[in-house]
Amino acid sequence: MDASPELALRRYALPFRSPLRTAHGPWSVREGLLLRVTGDAGRVGFGEIAPVNGFGGPSLDDCVADLTRLGALPPLDALVDQAKTLPGLRGALVDAGVALAPAPARSRDHVTVAALLPAGRAALAVLKDRLELGFRVAKWKVGVAPIADELALLDDLLAVLPAGARLRLDANGAWDRRQAERWLDVAAGRPIEHVEQPIDARVRGAEDLLQGLAADYPVPVALDESIAQDADVAAWLDRGWAGVFVIKPTLLVNPAWAVERLAAARAKVVFSSALETAVGFKAALRWAFAWTGEPRAVGFGVGSLFAGPAGEVPPLAPFWRWSDVERINPADTWNALN
Ligand code: MG
Repeated sequence: MDASPELALRRYALPFRSPLRTAHGPWSVREGLLLRVTGDAGRVGFGEIAPVNGFGGPSLDDCVADLTRLGALPPLDALVDQAKTLPGLRGALVDAGVALAPAPARSRDHVTVAALLPAGRAALAVLKDRLELGFRVAKWKVGVAPIADELALLDDLLAVLPAGARLRLDANGAWDRRQAERWLDVAAGRPIEHVEQPIDARVRGAEDLLQGLAADYPVPVALDESIAQDADVAAWLDRGWAGVFVIKPTLLVNPAWAVERLAAARAKVVFSSALETAVGFKAALRWAFAWTGEPRAVGFGVGSLFAGPAGEVPPLAPFWRWSDVERINPADTWNALN
């Protein structure tokens, strides 16, 4: 590397095609940052920084400020240093041939995809449609409506599931201990693959509560908000977490490190979307295709989130081949955000 790499930034605020309703509240505009690194010989790498409310980590404003401070021709060591604390940068450096780390090696040709169902009664029609398309894993957002209403709806959803199909429940931390116990009780013995983030990761004693729930009920508990940062992945591995790790590669500073540690621990891993643009989508899915452990349906079954190239991801399907994902050209999204 002779010359300084070039760094370019594009901040975006893109309206979702349809606003989302989660336990964290409604969400209609996705804000984030695309970055482009150009190395020697014009090799280009793209990255995306797209923090999610409720998941911690550096704020978008802080990331933008840190990167803007570096300027358009940052010294290599300053850039590499920044990649130790900011998500999205490391992969771009690797792709641009600037950082000396291998890109994720592909270990499978296809991944199965979990469909995302909307909260509330709308889930039923969407589930029927997705089953029709061939999906056999779907995730339903719960913790949004009163518990009695949602438990009644759960029966309706399970009633249309064909044999072998499974539902994931995602509470986004909306429940207290008693509510979580009630749901885990109801879930036992039914085709429910896991119950995701039953307890808010930020409440006092959340770790012990989650460990207790995982130990007391047969349905696996999945951690999502609890493991949003690299250090959380390490901490939960050290605690010997036997449930599922929901990994959003877009939120991690060093996905390579996290994925390697998870594989070594033979952890149960679900790779998941952070509702990013096509740029982050492609970068994140590379880790799912590189995963050497037991495969689980990826949580990317949300379809095209945005109009235009930012939302140009493979059509919603129960599985994707790598060639479907490889076709995404990050430069298209970059250029469209000009
Ligand atoms: Mg989740």
